Order: sequence, then structure tokens, then C-alpha cells
Amino acid sequence: RTVYVNGVYLPENQAQISIFDRGFLFADAVYEVTAVLGGKLLDFEAHMARLKRSMRELDMTLPYADEDLLAIHKALVEKNDLEEGLVYLQLTRGAADRDFDFSEMTGEPGIVLFTQAKPLIASTLAQRGQKIILADDLRWGRSDIKTVQLLYSSLMKTRAKKAGADDVWLCRDGKITEGSSNNAYIVTENNEIITRELSNDILHGITRSAVLKVAKLHQMKVIERAFTIEELKSAKEAFSTSASGFVNPVVDVDGLAIGDGVPGAVSSTLREAYLTESRRTAI
Ligand code: PLP
Repeated sequence: RTVYVNGVYLPENQAQISIFDRGFLFADAVYEVTAVLGGKLLDFEAHMARLKRSMRELDMTLPYADEDLLAIHKALVEKNDLEEGLVYLQLTRGAADRDFDFSEMTGEPGIVLFTQAKPLIASTLAQRGQKIILADDLRWGRSDIKTVQLLYSSLMKTRAKKAGADDVWLCRDGKITEGSSNNAYIVTENNEIITRELSNDILHGITRSAVLKVAKLHQMKVIERAFTIEELKSAKEAFSTSASGFVNPVVDVDGLAIGDGVPGAVSSTLREAYLTESRRTAI
């Protein structure tokens, strides 16, 4: 693969980062993952807007204009002949002798981008539905900032896999916050789509915002509020959204079937509608 590191395109085995990089030492870095379909980027502007917000919240400044970031994304898609998959972008505060205090740091953030070729449309999870387990949400209180501080979610996802499930949904005070790397939804008997309202507790998903928009266009009723574990277990359908998974049905929670135990009509409709709309606006 050709990757991009601080202004240079080079083969992945020649790319280097300092061992003093604060992204490595303190998880002092933010990231974005943008899906690519047919060689085009999905929801690109929204991902870059969220990147800037994450950086602002952490007193970081972005040394690149939107056009530069788009040009780098596009160049990597082209250099790697990427038809379907992801572009990963990470911005780190940069390298400095190890110190909690970064106020004396000069210099610009470091930037790394790489691609991952991956079938996204033909997804087994979308076809058979996901099995999930629940776990306490023990992450820090600013899950709205997309930092690379992902250890808790990574640990929980790995435990979910070991337990025979596909993913984990996190809970706080008896209510679902979100999935390990996706936003969480239920559909009630009245066909209302319920997903937690935006706050510091969840990532403001780009796919969430796009899917809620298409749901409203399809005259579906959307309610943004937290739902309980009991509501999830008795829901007609459940599903998750993310840039890499689009819309993925959930058919089993802690060993209990959701609805009929097969992917539901609302999630299937939303997956197709989201894909149609995001392909139309892809760049
Ligand atoms: N929630 C978390 C914790 C995530 O890590 C992600 C994506 O990686 C999402 C939600 C979904 O966000 P998006 O739709 O922007 O990919």
C-alpha cells in the first residue's frame, strides 16, 4: 500500500512516526474513517467537519485546508486502486519529550492516512444480522470527541467476539449509549425509530445524521432519546450505523432474539435508502 505521512506519499513499510509522538504515548490524536464505494468518498465534508470539531475541543489546530485533505484522500484512493473500502485519517498533536503538559509545544500536528480495501456492500453482518452483548460504558465522559483512545471499546469488542457475538453495545444507567464503533437504534411496535440524543456521551455519527435524514424523507417517525435495556430486548427491530457498516441489523441481544430473530424491514429499507443517497452525493 501507498500511505501518506506528513506531506509524503510512500510505501507503508517505509512510513515512520516518532516514538515520542503524543498519539502513541497519550492517545493524543483524533481520527476519521471515510467509506469508499466505486472509488468515491461517502459523506466526505461531514467527516472533515467533525474532524475539525474534535480538534477544536482538544485545542489542536488543523494545518490543512479542506481542499488539501480532499486531494490527499483522492490521491490515496487512486494510488491504491481503491474501489471499495476505507480511508483512515489520523491527526496527532505531534512529538515532544514525554510530559502531561503540552502547553509549551510548538510545531504542527502530524498527519497519517492509509487505505483499507474491504467489501462493504456484500456484508455478512447485514445479511444475517448481528449478535450483540451488553457491557457497562466505562469510557471517559467525552465520547463525542473522536480520539484514538479506543482501548475500552476494543477490549469489550474482543470479549464479545470471544463470547460468540459480533459486537458490544455499551450501557449507562440502564440505557444504551452506543455500540463499540457505531450508533445504536431500536424500532418499536409502532415503527418509531429511537436513538439516543446527541450529547457528550456518544459520537455524533455521520451515518447517524444521514440515516435519520433519509428516515424522515421516507416518512418514518424518528425519536431522539435514550432507550433502556428492557426496551431494546422487547423491540421489534434493532440496528447500528457507522461509516464502515452503513446500517446493520441486530438480531440477538445477550442470547435473546430481537423481533423475529432475522433482519427487519426498517433496517433493510434504511440500509438501501442510505446507500442510494450517499452514492448520489459521493465525491
Ligand atoms: N460511535 C462510535 C463510538 C464510533 O467509533 C463510530 C464510528 O467509528 C460511530 C459511533 C459511528 O460514526 P460514523 O457514522 O461517523 O462512522
